[in-house]
Amino acid sequence: MKVGLNLFFVPYRSLTDPFFQQNQQSMSINQQDVEFMQEAIALARRGMILNIGGPFGAIVVHQGSIIGHGMNRVTSHNDPTAHAEIVAIREACAHLESYQLTECTIYTTCEPCPMCLGAIYWARPARLVYAADRNDASVAGFDDDYIYREIQLLPGDRHLPTESLGRALALPLFKEWDAKKDKQMY
Ligand SMILES: [Zn+2]
Repeated sequence: MKVGLNLFFVPYRSLTDPFFQQNQQSMSINQQDVEFMQEAIALARRGMILNIGGPFGAIVVHQGSIIGHGMNRVTSHNDPTAHAEIVAIREACAHLESYQLTECTIYTTCEPCPMCLGAIYWARPARLVYAADRNDASVAGFDDDYIYREIQLLPGDRHLPTESLGRALALPLFKEWDAKKDKQMY
């Protein structure tokens, strides 16, 4: 079910920016946010030191409690989708026994890559807070900014060879879904 999505993209590092300090009253960041971000950063550092994956961590908070932890596990799990946000979202959804993270805040040590941002939109949390940004990740050798730029291109202009096939065969699936009486929308 489509619901109103109200995500606040709050760069955590702006805590140290003069702009933030001047406008602190108008921003939604509070001391608890800082503590949760420190927890995410600790997770990221632990995963990196233990060679579990890249230097990324994320947590999901619901009603003041951490219900999802994620450190990047891409290399240790041979899983390109095992980004910190995805790992944390899966744990949080399992905890809530829900495919939605309503009323949750996601804290992540880096601006989510397009995959994770998509997952976050699908999970529909109330809020998102990130620390470093896509440019910082790019400097460290990660593809976040490259993928963001690819997404803005038309499919035929992307580096990934992409073709369309079988639309007429696939379209009936939507009609069948539309007619399905016991479907569960998400
Ligand atoms: Zn990601």
